[in-house]
Parts: sequence; structure tokens; C-alpha cells
Amino acid sequence: MLNIIEFFRNLPKKKCSQCGLDMTEQADCYGNLCDECDHPAR
Ligand SMILES: [Zn+2]
Repeated sequence: MLNIIEFFRNLPKKKCSQCGLDMTEQADCYGNLCDECDHPAR
């Protein structure tokens, strides 16, 4: 179980493919777009 935690901790930070903004881990589920670029209301 510890290996899984280490795996996610060691993941490199993603950058938004549209604006280049550094993304936090919580944005990973949205792919390569940050919250601003991947806003559902836009
Ligand atoms: Zn963006």
C-alpha cells in the first residue's frame, strides 16, 4: 500500500496544455487542462 502512495507523490506536476499553468494533483482527472481552460461553463 505504501508503494501506491509513493507512486502518486512522485508524479511530476502537470502543466495545462492550453495556457501552460502549473496544475495541482486534483486537476489530474480533467486531463491536461487547468480549471480555467477546462471550465464546464465555458
Ligand atoms: Zn489552462
